Amino acid sequence: MDMATPDHQQRLFFTTGRHGPAVEPVAPLHLRPALLAPYADLTRLRYDFPLVLVDAVDAGDAVRSLTSIVDALLLEMAPRGLEGERLRRHVLRLERAIRVMVAGGERGLLSALWTRAASNLARAEDASAEQVLLHVAAKLPVDGQVVDCDPALVRRLFDHLWDVEYARKRRAFRQTVDRLVVRLSDILRASFLNSDAGREPKSLQAALGGTHRELFDFDVMSRLVTRGRTGGELPDVRRARIERTLAVLRQQRFFVDAEDDDAKAAVRAGFRFEDCAAAAAAFRSRLPQIVEVVRAMAIAELDVDGRYVEDKHDPYFEGFDGSGLVADYLALFPDALVCIPPERNDAPENAALLDLLSSGFPVKVVVQTTDLVEDAPAVAPHFAFGVRSMRLANLATGLGGVFVIQAAASHLPALAGALERAFAHRGAALASVYSGAPQAGPMPHYLLAAVASDSRAFPAFVYDPYAGDNQAARFALHANPQTEADWPMASVEFADRKHQRVVERVALTFADFALCDVRYARHFARVPREHWHPALVPAADWLARDAGSQSDLLPYVLGVDAEGVLHRVVVDARLMETAARVRTFWHRLQEQGGIHNSHADIAVAREKAKWAAATAERDATATSSVATAADAVALERPPADATAPEVAAAAPQRNPDEPWIETSRCPSCNECQTINDRMFRYNENKQAYIADITAGSYRQLVEAAEACQVAIIHPGKPRDAAEPGLADLLERAKPFLA
Ligand code: SF4
Repeated sequence: MDMATPDHQQRLFFTTGRHGPAVEPVAPLHLRPALLAPYADLTRLRYDFPLVLVDAVDAGDAVRSLTSIVDALLLEMAPRGLEGERLRRHVLRLERAIRVMVAGGERGLLSALWTRAASNLARAEDASAEQVLLHVAAKLPVDGQVVDCDPALVRRLFDHLWDVEYARKRRAFRQTVDRLVVRLSDILRASFLNSDAGREPKSLQAALGGTHRELFDFDVMSRLVTRGRTGGELPDVRRARIERTLAVLRQQRFFVDAEDDDAKAAVRAGFRFEDCAAAAAAFRSRLPQIVEVVRAMAIAELDVDGRYVEDKHDPYFEGFDGSGLVADYLALFPDALVCIPPERNDAPENAALLDLLSSGFPVKVVVQTTDLVEDAPAVAPHFAFGVRSMRLANLATGLGGVFVIQAAASHLPALAGALERAFAHRGAALASVYSGAPQAGPMPHYLLAAVASDSRAFPAFVYDPYAGDNQAARFALHANPQTEADWPMASVEFADRKHQRVVERVALTFADFALCDVRYARHFARVPREHWHPALVPAADWLARDAGSQSDLLPYVLGVDAEGVLHRVVVDARLMETAARVRTFWHRLQEQGGIHNSHADIAVAREKAKWAAATAERDATATSSVATAADAVALERPPADATAPEVAAAAPQRNPDEPWIETSRCPSCNECQTINDRMFRYNENKQAYIADITAGSYRQLVEAAEACQVAIIHPGKPRDAAEPGLADLLERAKPFLA
């Protein structure tokens, strides 16, 4: 029998992971973080899923949430107020019905799901609803395949984005090439008409064509157009060059007929890969064809304008081998799409991922991750937190020119605009996506991914290398909640044992994320209520302490079970170490995003110190100027009364017991107003002064003096002799008395 005290058992669990009566395993409870308690049924929420992969999109909005489509419809069709209420109710019920169908695994076009949901609703609830809802369906602004936040999402979404970008490039390419083909053909046709063969009666008849042929005598016409002919046929060399160019442009296979589904499928298959090595090999083998088309386009541009000079351009194009192909030319062609599934992240053929990204190949790589807490081998028993996933995206930002997005699957809709920009980017792009995993347990993938993102386990960021010429423009962290904080906080409401409503502010930490995944249940132990004690502290508080003060305490997170019962769960030391590393990594991202940037903080402090010194010097100079001027006055106009005071003495003598601020030296740091904004105010120069000494306590005066960065607040003596703690406050005020 284990005779250890509950406290000892808990500490033993913390260091060794061993359970006991005072620390019970959590696996049977299927706990989720207390902050997720309100999200037991996602189908009742209007949120970013399901998504519609919009068909035939020209620009922007290639991906839309069902909710946004319904909102747009209602805005257009349902009048405000009671009049539109019935329609709104019907449509919102239908939206929920589609959400339930999709959560149950149904897929298809939005229009098809809409029709099915409308007839289901009519059957089950209100027969009149079907006509109304089918009428609304006819007004759907878009259609497309409906997808949910499930294991297939990443592949489907990125395939769709590739299709959208391919269609955009196809339109641009066809526009350019079709124009060149028409103009080159016109040159050939005009030349033919100018030639002997072109003036033959038969040729003239073919050229005129149409219904008026019978009206003309083409023999006579041939004699007339031939009379006085001065030539004008194309030189053979030019004709041959134009014919070669036209053949290349007409036969290229990068952009096929939009209606030819088989040809499109073949092109698509040729540009999609599951590993980096295959994508690189395909690009190398395709490069000669790209070079040939680029050369043909360049020659055509010169020829249609009559600017092709054989002596100059022939040698250039003969030596044109693509070695100087720039991103602008490569961007005309489809990019390769490499979707690396989670089980292939470590495969040898993906080892050169960073080389591929930095090589200049036009490639978009999607790395999907399902596990953010990787147990290292037994020889080094510690967590190797997200080595292959989390750091990968951050590493890629240093490669130069690579567009990088890191996001959990839950946040992909919010980043749809950035994803479209990544696909349109002239160069390589990397998307690193955490998608949740079936092995993680029963929690919906959306929630698991959302917690991964919000708990800083897999924060979202976008790095657009050409968004601007500084890091602030290029790096964005804004898709994360409460970016200033280590961990986001939210309120949890629950009833205590006396059935009283309690609201508690709770942080969402990395430990909360790990609690969502059954694979890490061994790192948690439930503490029965009778064994709670003051040394149990929230994990965020524990992490905020220094190592010395952590040792007396034990970190816990709040979990809620299927019945909605709240539990305190101790987290073991190994997971807390990982949580600390996650926070460190988050701090680095914050710095990259300009939040708590250590360089900026140091620079601001340095500038403030310089400013304060300059102000002090200016004040001293001003004082001495006044004194000098006064001396001059005194010399010119000696005092009538030798006992009259000196000019310098005209400055009022301060009563050392009165509080005051050296206002002219105030660099406006705002600290004093944070303590009491009625006692301390700014003047018109935005410099602090004591506006109302009765508006606060002596304690606040002393605290403001201590907080003031340039030590210019002098608290004087207390006005209220009965204020508590005066002896201590007077001691603290001593350094500031003047
Ligand atoms: S704390 Fe000091 S420096 Fe800051 S605003 Fe107040 S008086 Fe000025």
